[in-house]
Amino acid sequence: MAKSASKPALLTVDDDPEVLRAVERDLRREYGDRFRVLRADSGATALEALKQLKLRNDPVALFLVDQRMPQMSGVEFLEEAMELFPEAKRVLLTAYADTDAAIRAINSVKTDYYLLKPWDPPEERLYPVLNDLLDDWLSSFRPPFTGIRVVGSRWSPQSHQIKDFLARNQVPYQWMDIEADEEARRLVEYAEPDAAQLPLVLLPDGSRLIQPSSGQIADKIGLRTRAEKPFYDLVIVGGGPAGLAAAVYGASEGLSTVMIEKEAPGGQAGSSSRIENYLGFPVGLSGGDLARRAVTQARRFGVEIITPQEVMGVRVEDPYRIVDLADGSEINCHALMIATGVAWRKLDVPGLEALTGAGVYYGAAQAEALSCSGEDVYIIGGANSAGQAAMYFSKYARKITMLVRGDSLAKSMSQYLIDQISATDNIAVQVHSSVVEAKGETSLEAITIANTITGEKETVPATSLFIFIGALPRTDWLDGVVERDKQGFIMSGADLMRDRRRPRGWAVDRDPFLLETSVPGIFVAGDVRYGSVKRVASGVGEGSIAIQFVHQYLSKVGA
Ligand SMILES: Cc1cc2nc3c(=O)[nH]c(=O)nc-3n(C[C@H](O)[C@H](O)[C@H](O)COP(=O)(O)OP(=O)(O)OC[C@H]3O[C@@H](n4cnc5c(N)ncnc54)[C@H](O)[C@@H]3O)c2cc1C
Repeated sequence: MAKSASKPALLTVDDDPEVLRAVERDLRREYGDRFRVLRADSGATALEALKQLKLRNDPVALFLVDQRMPQMSGVEFLEEAMELFPEAKRVLLTAYADTDAAIRAINSVKTDYYLLKPWDPPEERLYPVLNDLLDDWLSSFRPPFTGIRVVGSRWSPQSHQIKDFLARNQVPYQWMDIEADEEARRLVEYAEPDAAQLPLVLLPDGSRLIQPSSGQIADKIGLRTRAEKPFYDLVIVGGGPAGLAAAVYGASEGLSTVMIEKEAPGGQAGSSSRIENYLGFPVGLSGGDLARRAVTQARRFGVEIITPQEVMGVRVEDPYRIVDLADGSEINCHALMIATGVAWRKLDVPGLEALTGAGVYYGAAQAEALSCSGEDVYIIGGANSAGQAAMYFSKYARKITMLVRGDSLAKSMSQYLIDQISATDNIAVQVHSSVVEAKGETSLEAITIANTITGEKETVPATSLFIFIGALPRTDWLDGVVERDKQGFIMSGADLMRDRRRPRGWAVDRDPFLLETSVPGIFVAGDVRYGSVKRVASGVGEGSIAIQFVHQYLSKVGA
């Protein structure tokens, strides 16, 4: 979504149309190939144009302004313009009679030069001066960020949600904190002088979204939220490693395939800061990187990826499986793959719910790490995901305290991570500890930690708390359709057979395939499957293997 950098602007302002045209013509002739030449017939119009340039993050190199204008003089204009573009060079255009005002302006608005009218011939009286000023400007010019900018409060759950959505969809963005950044405050004023509602998302094309939903952002950045066709051979629900692998294998083997993902492709793996045990990547890779590669691969084979879009239900009308989407639309298919993984388990203690997204986060290490630079961070959890997050934060935060219920990390974390943590100076592991309360008015201010053996409680100041306490499947939408265990994990293959009997309602003359659920033609892969190994490689393996059974199923399905 990043635009190509705009040429820096040269802005000329004059109320006399003839002079304005002449200046513009001369500027275009000499500089039109490297700069955008803009003109305005009054200071007020010019300031409005400058605000729009600011909102688009377009650079301005030079103001060339007539001193004598009604309503707003050249000097008055420059006073305001320099607040918007302090680095731009300032040249006043004056008549002989205004020379005194022009000289005074050298001090008051730090004009770089004043030119006497007329400036003919420009080769002698205009270009040498401007060349010198523009060379000087270019020598210190750093091209501005050309992607999406998000302006908001660090403690706003909605700001966090937007940052997380963009990061997980691999969209580069610049975060501007309204509490810490004067520039952010100005942008809000220019964009929304009356309302000042946040978060504000500024897009490179100059448009803006106020308090947008993920769907509104998705539309703007070109993500597809609706399926192209009404029918597919294979619909995959969930875009984590299992779903992506199924998509790549399905499409590469000729199945018309659509993958529906409610947040961002990558799944839980996408939130992992470093996966070190995935085959073929000896120095590890981030979950975001894995997701980006897999999405590229899937698209190359022609997989349609619909995101953000949630699957709300499924109906069986043989031989079709019909998937209901959150926007009210439906997609029909012959084979359905459920790869919806698991979602973070919520910690149920007083105060936490209200502060979620405002200092309390579930699994959001990557989106928030930079904001925690130089601060103290608390992490709850003792498994690999908590360990990876601690290592990731250790590069930014001043100190990380891991709060672990048990007596050590050894029972729940891989040894390589335990070794890394003990070798990192700014990570402390506090065992026998659980958070029992969170406090804060608008954002997290303190947590109360209880010793799980003595019951002793201690309240400590805290602004950032990251929770990694395991996960559960969210499969209520499949209630009454496929067999699930008590926690919601989906049963498949041999696990469905009881005393050699096939599952209830099973209507085909064979046993369920490996990875097939209690409904023929509905398959399951990855963490959401009952009995699965919760690893990236096993999710990828299951997603790939399942396609073999999808083919076998499709070869017999009566269309
Ligand atoms: C922080 C962290 C670090 C990890 N580190 C490692 C590691 O180093 N090595 C390793 O092997 N494993 C690691 N894991 C585990 C690994 O990420 C998971 O085992 C793996 O992602 C499971 O893949 P999956 O495709 O089954 O499910 P998921 O990755 O959970 O993906 C499921 C997807 O389905 C989507 N979805 C859910 N419901 C719906 C719906 N109704 N409609 C549409 N979409 C839906 C979700 O948004 C999600 O994107 C880590 C996990 C975490 C959280």
